[in-house]
Amino acid sequence: MKLFAIFGNPVSHSKSPIMHNNVFDKLGFDGCYTRVLLEDGKKLKEKFLKLNLSGANITVPHKEDAFRACDEVVGFAKEIGVVNTIIKKGDKLIGYNTDADGFIYAIDELKGIKTALIIGAGGTAKALAKRLKLEDIKVDILNRSEANLAYFKEFDTFTWSSFKPKKYNIVINTTSAGLKDEDLPAPLELLNELLSNTNYATDAIYGKVTPFLKLAKSKNIPTKDGLDMLLGQGVLANMLFTNSAYDKKEIEKHMRYALSL
Ligand code: NDP
Repeated sequence: MKLFAIFGNPVSHSKSPIMHNNVFDKLGFDGCYTRVLLEDGKKLKEKFLKLNLSGANITVPHKEDAFRACDEVVGFAKEIGVVNTIIKKGDKLIGYNTDADGFIYAIDELKGIKTALIIGAGGTAKALAKRLKLEDIKVDILNRSEANLAYFKEFDTFTWSSFKPKKYNIVINTTSAGLKDEDLPAPLELLNELLSNTNYATDAIYGKVTPFLKLAKSKNIPTKDGLDMLLGQGVLANMLFTNSAYDKKEIEKHMRYALSL
């Protein structure tokens, strides 16, 4: 049997074990997926090898340590220096990033996206901005404060005071506003004008309808919450774990079911 794990701190809330184990069970893959609370990210490789894992996911706050722990890093993960999935091949640890690709997977059914506004300038915004740009989508960034915008040199960036709402195909909330409170990610007046001119709205937060998504829904805009993003990264990680032995849509079906429990 192959053993997989998610490393994080905290990690007890993670839905990854239930998602992956349901896929393994339903599709007949001889694998088991567990959680590991890791306090020191520098011990990731040692712990991975000691547990004799075949693969792992890495969550907050160890994704950059995971990048450093790998012998080889593949694809988009190399560009952003952030790894959320590791596969053991021979005696080497190979690193991938399925978070941003998972978002692309999640919005695949939303057609005609050429322009995007990302609200927020944290880790998620960085990954999504660069990944959307690879899809030839024109990305602008809007953030509450100036400091975090310095990273986004290749994009047009705005703070609330410098932003003039215009038409975007998609507006993506990557802030944590609305996660534990009823805050909007930007002033109501600004969002009202913005969302009146937008085709789709998505939020990285899952498990609740955020005030941002409520506002978008009130304007009859098709929306997606972060569950699809979570699913997307999980489907792509599972394909790496199982060496693409199963159909993407089958994996998604069993993960979606596990998340609904
Ligand atoms: P970071 O802490 O790196 O960034 C947070 C950003 O949100 C900053 O730009 C910050 O602005 C802004 N912000 C925070 N609070 C507010 C507020 N009240 N109003 C306006 N802006 C605010 O977070 P991450 O990028 O790591 O994560 C962001 C969110 O995405 C979290 O809610 C997380 O749960 C979710 N997430 C979901 C995933 C999924 O699979 N669905 C995957 C990864 C993340 P400032 O710069 O001014 O401080």
